[in-house]
Amino acid sequence: MPLQIYNSLTRQKEEFVPLTDGLVRMYVCGPTVYDYPHIGHAKSYISFDIVVRYLRYLGYRVKYVQNITDVGHLLDDGEDRILKGAQREKRDPMELVEIYTRAFFDAMDALNVQRPTISPRATGHIPEQIEMVQTLIDKGHAYVVNGSVYFDISTWPGYGVLSGRRVEDQRAGERVEASDEKRHPADFALWKKAGPEHIMQWNSPWGRGYPGWHIECSAMSMKYLGETLDIHGGGMENQFPHHECEIAQSEAVTGKPFVRYWMHHNMVMVEGVKMSKSLGNFTSVQRALERYSGAQIRFFILQSHYRSPVDFSREAIDASAQGLERLQATRDQLLHFLASDEGDVSAQVEQVCAEYKALFEKEMNDDFNTPAAIGHLFSFAREINSRLSSSLSSASVKLLHDTFIRLADDVLGILPESRTALAADPFIDLLVTVRREIRAQKNWALSDHLRDKLEELGVAIQDGKEKSSWTYKKNMPAL
Ligand SMILES: [Zn+2]
Repeated sequence: MPLQIYNSLTRQKEEFVPLTDGLVRMYVCGPTVYDYPHIGHAKSYISFDIVVRYLRYLGYRVKYVQNITDVGHLLDDGEDRILKGAQREKRDPMELVEIYTRAFFDAMDALNVQRPTISPRATGHIPEQIEMVQTLIDKGHAYVVNGSVYFDISTWPGYGVLSGRRVEDQRAGERVEASDEKRHPADFALWKKAGPEHIMQWNSPWGRGYPGWHIECSAMSMKYLGETLDIHGGGMENQFPHHECEIAQSEAVTGKPFVRYWMHHNMVMVEGVKMSKSLGNFTSVQRALERYSGAQIRFFILQSHYRSPVDFSREAIDASAQGLERLQATRDQLLHFLASDEGDVSAQVEQVCAEYKALFEKEMNDDFNTPAAIGHLFSFAREINSRLSSSLSSASVKLLHDTFIRLADDVLGILPESRTALAADPFIDLLVTVRREIRAQKNWALSDHLRDKLEELGVAIQDGKEKSSWTYKKNMPAL
């Protein structure tokens, strides 16, 4: 079965076919950098990291754009989040943005989330946003009132296509900013007039002001990915109004479909309660990392499907951490037996690897079903543990190792230490070769010294007649 993705737009699973053969154009709404990232961000960006990693595993080139919102994300009371953060911390807005952009990437690095191909900032794309707003005015989809510009939803019958909301149902208030200036309560701001007290403002054809939040995603995604994206991702809570507005304004400008597959992840609960600012139960990623490793948090999140909520509780993460330990133990065993790729791969091992690879892919092809894929990984680990013995050929161990790491780490990213270990391999090879030369010169003292030092670092050397080989010792320290 080829890859199937649940498309929020059509509300069904569809076979994934990118617009251009071999290339995936993907956009995910990035963070508003006015505070530390919380566990909700972890769920969001780990979910889409899996999508990117799996698409790359399948052989696609993925151009992955994820923006940084550093202006214009208004709170329900109309206040700009960045400005509010800057006032809270008595900092320059750009200073605030810099601090929390770094904090965001630090947290994502700790969670082994690969960096996007491009991370454009909203403030770096003001001319592009102004140009889009002007086109919308020229095409009759937007109107200017007193230095602000609004999208006129009466000109866009498709408004509501993603969220299923009808314009008639939308009242002023409730997450839709009410304003006397708007012709209809659901019209949304593309550009806002800035008073002198507003620190972040730019020149525009309509006077000094700043962009509305929705327009940045359309301007930046289309700038880097073209007028039609293959995948657009975000949280379910962003379907309305944010993504609805993105569709309306983008398609009104280009006349082309904006996104082929919309993907939305579910929310995070804490001890059975929805995580929200007002309830004060936000847990920052940094706080969580004081107690758990990045791999433990990541593994815990991946044991729920991205379209299901994940419920954070100490007991649940502790239980899941034990499961991760079992997979790590199998990886350690593989490293212990891993020597070189000499000998032939046994037919049985070849079959086992192919079987588990197929089972894993079947689940991942079903809308990235990570909990089911992890289930197969546990069975694979048990199978490996039962087969590993010194009688297994080196080539067989290597195939088991490579297949296991490819699925568990290349795709799921839950055994990041394996990469560190493997990254050291060529250097260990070099040291072992140099030591062989030293032995040829009969400098036994230096050769023994090298062997002992490598031993301390967790590498065991076996000297043969023709050559020396080496293996990682079990429970090797992190290199
Ligand atoms: Zn967005």
